[in-house]
Order: sequence, then structure tokens, then C-alpha cells
Amino acid sequence: MQIPNCFHATDTRAHPNHDFLLLILLIVMSSISVGCSSSDPVATNEAVSATLVKAEQAAAPQSTYAPSPISEQVTSEIAARSNQNPVALTACDISPIEVLLFVAETVPTREQRIIEEAICLSKQLYFDKDATNWQMATPVYVAALNRYDPESAIKLESEYCEFIQHRHPEAWMCDPDNSNPNCETDGLCLFTEEDGRVSGSSISSSRHRDEFYLFINQSHDDDASYWYVALHEMFHIYQISSIADPDISGEGLARFLGLRSASNRELDSPWWMEGTAVYMSHYYYSAEKEATWEHLRREMGRYLNTDYNGSGLGTILEQYKGSGKHLADFNYGGSDHQVAYGMGAWFVAYLVNLSGIDKIFEFYSILEESGGFEDAFVATYGRSHNSYLTEFDLFLDKSKSEIMSILPE
Ligand SMILES: [Zn+2]
Repeated sequence: MQIPNCFHATDTRAHPNHDFLLLILLIVMSSISVGCSSSDPVATNEAVSATLVKAEQAAAPQSTYAPSPISEQVTSEIAARSNQNPVALTACDISPIEVLLFVAETVPTREQRIIEEAICLSKQLYFDKDATNWQMATPVYVAALNRYDPESAIKLESEYCEFIQHRHPEAWMCDPDNSNPNCETDGLCLFTEEDGRVSGSSISSSRHRDEFYLFINQSHDDDASYWYVALHEMFHIYQISSIADPDISGEGLARFLGLRSASNRELDSPWWMEGTAVYMSHYYYSAEKEATWEHLRREMGRYLNTDYNGSGLGTILEQYKGSGKHLADFNYGGSDHQVAYGMGAWFVAYLVNLSGIDKIFEFYSILEESGGFEDAFVATYGRSHNSYLTEFDLFLDKSKSEIMSILPE
């Protein structure tokens, strides 16, 4: 059995409106953060953390856990605690998904409320469908962190772990034996980086392996980022929950999700998983919150027109075309990951222009029964993803205005 790694890469931008992180909790646990919405010069720092080798002990609990709606049991768990965390989501009736929030003490209630409302919207957009595997979509624990206040994040981490150890005693995440040896804080470096900076936004666990999802939300400087980051992260939960088999291995899950489409099958390939999450988050933020396509066009345009990752290698589009690499061979980490996210999102825009947004949901609704990522792709879109990628690369030779013209306006 392979030993799970914790690979952790973080970019910090000069004006970081948000970070996305997907911690894929599988055999490889990867996290990425993506800065957005900046025209400022970019400072990029990358930290790659050590291995949480003992995470293998967490290997898929024998799924006897049956998720429950917010129940008397949970209510009494909450009431018995000395502080207010966790709190149930109250902005809507989110059942049958159970959402509990752990809110750092310096996160304003108004910002907590936006996170709640964005999760409510994501349920309507992604989950309220016939094919949803509700059991695998719950529970979701949200850690709302103040990016400027690491101390409150470390305090919250301890409250969170007290809860996890009580409710999920088998979970590896808060087990002191699995602590990160490179953590320089007084905590466990779940809600901070090793050097003490507050963690970026991510989905940091999976229902299949951990019994629950942990959605870490780093605070943002503007409301829009709160909305589309939550829509991005909740889309990851939708993706992962599309696999109903609770006993699937981490490697099996990674294959279904398209993470094994690189030439090197040992590396996570984020183009599809992140490309869809990036595109869907900006698409639905524009459609549902702004009622215009301005935001979507601006965010997608930045991948064509800016050196988004501060690499000095040109725009994301130029970096992609100049690399000579297949889109699936861009990995998490370094300058690669922004290209995977950005051009992955453009590939999704290309597909949506040809086939419509609902096809994305159709893909996930048949993913498991199709037997694999590629089979589901062909069943949904008629041809292999490589066939579309070849066309996509030719499409990218068009002028920027022609490329932009496939977006809704
Ligand atoms: Zn993501």
C-alpha cells in the first residue's frame, strides 16, 4: 500500500483576494492556493511541506457512519461545549446535508453569513438534483478563518480538534501521533501553514476516507471572493460526492475524478477537477449574484492577458502555449498550477460553449456507473478528452477577442 503524502503548495500574492486550496485527501494529499483578482505585481512564495506519513492509518474507515441531519445528538454536543463552536448553518434549510461552522473569534458575523448563504446557493445549484449521492455529501465542517489573525486560527483549530476527536475518534486529522513535524506554531498546522500564516481556502478531507468534509475558508477582502470561493470549494464536494461507493480507495477516487490523466500517473493532474471548479464558481457568481457576465469575462480574461502567477513567463495563455506541454501534464504546485487552473477553466468554457453547462452535471451523474473518467467523458461529450484538447489547442491560436467571444455576454 502506498504511503499517503501531504504535499502542500501555497502561493501568496501581493493582493491576494482569495486562495483556493484543494487538499485531496487521497493517497496523495495535495493543496493548492490560487490568488486571484489582482492587477498588482505578484509575489509568489511557495512552501512545500513534509509528509504526513502516518496519515495512512486513516485509510478508509469501514463506512458504518450514517450521516444525520442536524440532530438532537449534535445539538446536545454543541450545547455541552463551553464555547460557541460549532454552530449550525441557519441561513437556509440545508438538509439533508449537515453543515456545522467553526468560526474564528475575529471573523465578523456578516462575513460568516455570506459563507452560509453561498453554501445554501451551492446546494441549490449543484446538489438539488435527482442523481445526488446525499450520503456522500455530508457532513461538511466549515472553518471560517481570519487571514490576518493566525492566533485565532490556532485557537479555533483546538476547538475543532476537540470536536473531531469526540465525534470522529478514528479520524487521523487531529491525532497528535500524526502531527506535522515541521509545524512551527503551537497548533497542528491544520488551520495555519507551517510558518504560522493562516491557511488558504480548501477542501481538506473527504467523506470517503475521513467520514466528513473540512472546508477551510480563509477570509477575503471583498464580498465577491467570499461568494465564488465558497462556490468553488462546494463544487469540489459535489465532485467527490458523485462517487457513492464509501469504500473506494483514495487511488480509485483520484482516477474517477480525472486526477490521474497526466503522463506521470503518480502526479495529480488538476486541469479537469480545478478547471470545472474555477469556471463554475465564476459562472454562477456572475449569473446568480451579479446578473451580468462581467465578472466571468473579467476573471477569464485575466488568464489571457496577465502574468497571473507572477512567474515572469508571460500571460497564462502564453505560458501554456509556450510550454509545448499537454494540459493534463500541468500539476499542482509552482508556476504549473495556475496554468492548470486557468487553462483548465478555459477548456471548460470551450466545452460549455459547445454543449452547455448542464453537461458538466450530466458527466458527474454518470461518472461512477460509466466505470471511469474517460468513459464518462466520452459518454457525455461523444469523444475523448484528448480529442477535445487537440481542438482546444487550435482554438487558442485564434485572436483574444475571438477566444473571449465564446463566453456569455
Ligand atoms: Zn479548487
